[in-house]
Amino acid sequence: MSPASTVGRWAPSPTGYLHLGNLRTALLAWLFARSAGGRFLWRFEDLDGAVRPQFYDSQLRDVAALGIDWDGEPVRQSDRLDLYRDAIADLRRRGLTYECFCTRREIAEAAAAPHGPSPEGAYPGTCRRLGRAELEQRRSQGRPPALRLRVEMPDTQHLELTVVDRQLGPFAGIVDDFVIQRGDGTPAYNLAVVVDDASQGVTEVVRGDDLLPSTPRQVHLAHLLGLEPPAYAHVPLVLGPGRQRLAKRDGAVTLPDRLALGETSVDVLNLLLSSLGLALVADAGDLRHIAQQFDPASLPRQPWVHKP
Ligand code: GLU
Repeated sequence: MSPASTVGRWAPSPTGYLHLGNLRTALLAWLFARSAGGRFLWRFEDLDGAVRPQFYDSQLRDVAALGIDWDGEPVRQSDRLDLYRDAIADLRRRGLTYECFCTRREIAEAAAAPHGPSPEGAYPGTCRRLGRAELEQRRSQGRPPALRLRVEMPDTQHLELTVVDRQLGPFAGIVDDFVIQRGDGTPAYNLAVVVDDASQGVTEVVRGDDLLPSTPRQVHLAHLLGLEPPAYAHVPLVLGPGRQRLAKRDGAVTLPDRLALGETSVDVLNLLLSSLGLALVADAGDLRHIAQQFDPASLPRQPWVHKP
């Protein structure tokens, strides 16, 4: 692939202020794309109920303040529902889905039951096995079902798929009968992300390594939909002082928090650059020089522990 054909993206959920961990992932996604001479797209993943309108603008503003730019207008998943519904309808037509009435609690209980080992986090297949009468009975209870993908299993309960991550190498993960449409009718993240990356021509996904376990599911779904999966680079998260994932409780972790302490946005950018072992800048506009020298092979492989 020629470098100019690289298309990267950043896909935050507008549910709050971005913290240093989010900003660092945005910076990395931008560096990967721009260092390859590629395009960089912004997509708001706003199908989640926790979305708050004010955070669309605050996220755009904070990322721009660090010298990160993007191509074209940011898109919103909430404007693209037809695309997801078409993909879901296609899978339904092909008999690749089934209705699931399970509550979280039922799933946890079934997964712990002794009738068969279920890898951690994998759906144990309860509703796949419902007979016609049970199905009618569940439907009549009025709880709207989620839709799950009916994954063809080799012989056992789960498919295992290996993806090769650009930073982490081969990763073998489970593809279970995951949810593609929630009970309230909203397309699920794993479905929307696959449809979006393909329809936006994304060739390279750079994101936090908490999403690595979802990647085999997404690659499997892309193949089922006849789509070319992107390349993946999962990057380490930022941790708080207690070594748990960075969060608001960890103090001044957003750009507005840091500005309120008297820092500038260039100070925050330099904090992130130094956490990545990269050269510092005098001005956010100099970030493009960092991109010219950027080498993903030299990035730290460990999480960055942020100490306020
Ligand atoms: N919307 C997800 C997040 O904010 C990112 C999903 C992705 O990059 O695939 O964590």
